[in-house]
Amino acid sequence: MSDDAAPAPAPPLPTLPPEALGGLAAHAERGWVEGLPADPVGAEGGRRSREVRGAAYSWVWPERPPAPRLLAASADAGALLGLGAEELEGEDLGRWLSGAALLRGARPYATCYGGHQFGAWAGQLGDGRALCLGSYEGPPLSAAQAALHGVADPARPRWEVQLKGAGRTPYSRRGDGRAVLRSSLRELVCSEAMWALGVPTTRALSLVATGERVWRDPLYDGRPRAEPGAVVCRLAPSFLRFGHLELPASRGEWGVAAALLDVSVERDFAPAWRLAGEGVDALSAEERRARWFEEVSARTLRLMVEWTRVGFVHAVMNTDNLSALGLTVDYGPYGWLDDVDLSWTPNTSDAAERRYRFGAQPLCARWGLSRLAHAIAPLAAGGAPRLSETLEAWLPAYERAESALLARKVGFGAPRAESAEVLRALDGAGVDMTLFFAALRALPLDEGAGGAAARAAHLAGCLYAPEELPAARRKRLAARREGLWAWLERYAGAARAEVAREGAGPRDARLGATNPALTPRNFLTQEAVDAAERGDLSPLWALLEALRDPYAPLTGRRASFARRRPAWALERFGCSALSCSS
Ligand code: AMP
Ligand code: MG
Repeated sequence: MSDDAAPAPAPPLPTLPPEALGGLAAHAERGWVEGLPADPVGAEGGRRSREVRGAAYSWVWPERPPAPRLLAASADAGALLGLGAEELEGEDLGRWLSGAALLRGARPYATCYGGHQFGAWAGQLGDGRALCLGSYEGPPLSAAQAALHGVADPARPRWEVQLKGAGRTPYSRRGDGRAVLRSSLRELVCSEAMWALGVPTTRALSLVATGERVWRDPLYDGRPRAEPGAVVCRLAPSFLRFGHLELPASRGEWGVAAALLDVSVERDFAPAWRLAGEGVDALSAEERRARWFEEVSARTLRLMVEWTRVGFVHAVMNTDNLSALGLTVDYGPYGWLDDVDLSWTPNTSDAAERRYRFGAQPLCARWGLSRLAHAIAPLAAGGAPRLSETLEAWLPAYERAESALLARKVGFGAPRAESAEVLRALDGAGVDMTLFFAALRALPLDEGAGGAAARAAHLAGCLYAPEELPAARRKRLAARREGLWAWLERYAGAARAEVAREGAGPRDARLGATNPALTPRNFLTQEAVDAAERGDLSPLWALLEALRDPYAPLTGRRASFARRRPAWALERFGCSALSCSS
């Protein structure tokens, strides 16, 4: 049953004047919900936790926060909605993006999805504490920026504006619908850093303190504490997850699943297909859905290559946290490699199995795609056999792409044995991922013993002393380090030969474009969290500023962010270990 035509009931919240936020209300479009079945219980059902059947979403108002205060806003994300400095600094933004006031005509909703969590089907999950305020059309983007955001038509980007932590919804299960400052701050910093790094991601526009205390037990040890509450606002063309399709398919609600697929095809994919001159309009719905899956697979592949490139560990790659647009979504207990350990994950809930460890992310993505294929097979042309073909080609294609990536990461024009070996050479050798790859640009390449000594001296700042490493990684350090030096000499020889052949320029350009000088390592963000919890926001603002240009030379304040993980962060919750409590 579609609720589209029903007049919106009067909101139980104040509405901002039409000219607020640069007149953004006038840029509203009907958005994701258009053409999708609404929860028939409707707004009358309120936010009561329930199973929502036969629907893709539920209308629900934000829960008004007591004392919203804007803590930080991303000017780069604001520009996506056409918001300038004046709008980002005024009072209205914090009210709007905390759920204290609505834009004219807005009718917020929470979406219904399920998912496989740590390999097991978890049933209905849904936007338990996320709430979409609506969709707005933003100014045109370059083709490159459109691709980075999964925007289908660069001339007419449409953004869903979603709040995380704006209160309970029908999907809250036993949760309070709120979010805490530390995790919301982490989402803001990491989303914006990912974008600056050139990794597809949902964006974060703002961080607003709610003025409310939220009870959490972050260590899961029965010692809950009252934490400051916050709301983060995120933007994406669509927050469609694999689990949005899996849930109706699991219930045999094929009408809902088909509607979701067709809306996604039409909104998120077909405009780009048309721009590329592909005659999609002559195709059957079933054929378009099969192509949709092929494209979701290709985008997921690109995302995995990018996570490998920058050393990002998502840590909760459940199918409810995998984006159909190929975006990094749901920043929870994520982490960044400090000393390279391919088996690392910071998520304490996954400590035993390490299902979502850095080195296994591509396999987990592939598994998630197989769940998605299973869900939509009855709706797609060619059914399971055709989708299986895509899945079977996926890992070999990932491996080819990874091999090309690793070549670029060490500056080669094409894969060689030394580039294929680089991650294994670094694994467990006590080398800082970000610092090491950034240091390759100026690595001395001279031959012989003098060259080797110069290389060791050049890399000294990237190496962790045994006492700077977790105890488990100290045992094999000496052997690993020796292996690293052996690899480095083979690598330097190959790099020397390449430079002799093509000059130093191409190598330098490849290294510079592939390896960032700065990434939002957990310890950096934790420093900003600690300060923010004390009421000092300047470290957060400085970090956000430094991460806007992660490939630029490290001058001034930015240089202070490019360092090895400090000793205090080694065992610190929030750095080496994180939970899903947020
Ligand atoms: P996450 O671990 O954040 O991906 O959340 C898994 C599911 O639990 C999602 O459906 C969330 O919306 C829901 N959820 C997580 N935390 C809360 C909360 N505090 N209140 C309501 N729902 C929540
Ligand atoms: Mg999630």
